[in-house]
Amino acid sequence: MCTARVEGELSPYSDENYINSGVPQGSLLGPLLFLLYINDLPEGLECATFIYADDTSIYMPTDPADPIAANNVLQSDLNRIYEWSTIWGLCFKPSKCKDLTFTKQGDSNHVNLYFNRLLIPKVTVHKHLGFYLDQNLNFKEHVTKLAEKVQNKLNPLKKLSYCLKSKHLNTIYNTYISPNFDYCDIIYSSANETYLKMLERTHYRAALIVSGCIQGSNTSKVLSILNWRTLSAKRKARLEIFAYKVNNNLVPTYISQLFLNYRNMGVRETRNRRPYIFPPRSSSRIRKSPLYRLMSAWNNLRRDTRSIETLSQFKSKVNILPDFLHTSSTELIGLTRKQEIHLNRMRVDFVLNSHLHAHNFTGVNNPNCTHCNKLNTNSHFLLRCQDPIHRQRIINLLTSIHDVRVQNNRAGKSVGTWERGSQEARKSHRKFFDDQKNFILLFA
Ligand SMILES: [Zn+2]
Repeated sequence: MCTARVEGELSPYSDENYINSGVPQGSLLGPLLFLLYINDLPEGLECATFIYADDTSIYMPTDPADPIAANNVLQSDLNRIYEWSTIWGLCFKPSKCKDLTFTKQGDSNHVNLYFNRLLIPKVTVHKHLGFYLDQNLNFKEHVTKLAEKVQNKLNPLKKLSYCLKSKHLNTIYNTYISPNFDYCDIIYSSANETYLKMLERTHYRAALIVSGCIQGSNTSKVLSILNWRTLSAKRKARLEIFAYKVNNNLVPTYISQLFLNYRNMGVRETRNRRPYIFPPRSSSRIRKSPLYRLMSAWNNLRRDTRSIETLSQFKSKVNILPDFLHTSSTELIGLTRKQEIHLNRMRVDFVLNSHLHAHNFTGVNNPNCTHCNKLNTNSHFLLRCQDPIHRQRIINLLTSIHDVRVQNNRAGKSVGTWERGSQEARKSHRKFFDDQKNFILLFA
């Protein structure tokens, strides 16, 4: 006799019931015992069987000219599974079973399948372990659903963007939202470019929220001030890391075995030797497959990159980020969120009259400086404008920024490594100077 209890109290939503087999939910040994219990399920089945926790799939290639043959095998395996379940007291829910045919040819002509004499419904898309598998394996469904899911998570982030700074919004996005894109990206990245662009647009919208920039700002500039990469650049690096794992036996054998047939087993180690050889005259469909793309990603890497010794070194080699100032630099000079937004918009060229005029903003009739009527570019605004009041303002601000830095330094806060005089230090010094120039504009 069993019933659900919450903190020792009987749950009002659950009736007492007899349970003939199973493991207690939430126990430590439960999952292990469950796996031991169902481990012999695939024995004696003719189809390929995949078990993940309590999800079981059976799979069989079928000849479109003779679908009956494969159907018979599938049906007899389903019968065996039903027999197994009655012997061991575990029930499979026929209503939760789905029948999905992967085909290039649209409607499949394969016949009905039954489980315990109940018809298994045919579907064209099925969500398996959080991934939408569709009939044509074009991943349109998965990518569309993924974009929707991320967009829904961005809505609350947008509300927070008025009160939190970039640094915190960035942490929230990278911890809770952007990992959604990473799940199975090696598989879905063979989707049509149109769908993948939909994801890039969602990623761009996130960048606008975090940076505070306006819709229409240059995508690569917005991403670079946040130190973000495009999703496709991220996927490329993740593909290369996966290929590294395959080649260094850091993946389970059932994955590395898939690549064995394509390894270049040439006797002589030459400079141009490719690690993998592909089937000749591969169709575009083959070239888009994850297996092919993994192998070609590995082939395309430089030889010295392929022979890097540790995974962490390899990761830092392929995960190169654009060399830009981090959002934390605005943290250093103590900006408010409003100032930070202004600074970011300045960095992506989207504040001055000339920027807005170039984007056809209404109410901006000319791109010129209000003081001297010359074209108001960033350099005019910072360096060339001869208006005395404007210049004095810039000088005052430079002094005040300097004071902030000196105070921070005295208070023992890190102000970067630029005082040390190394090449790297000079580089960060230059960067900081650029940032200062932008910072001035906040108060202009
Ligand atoms: Zn001027």
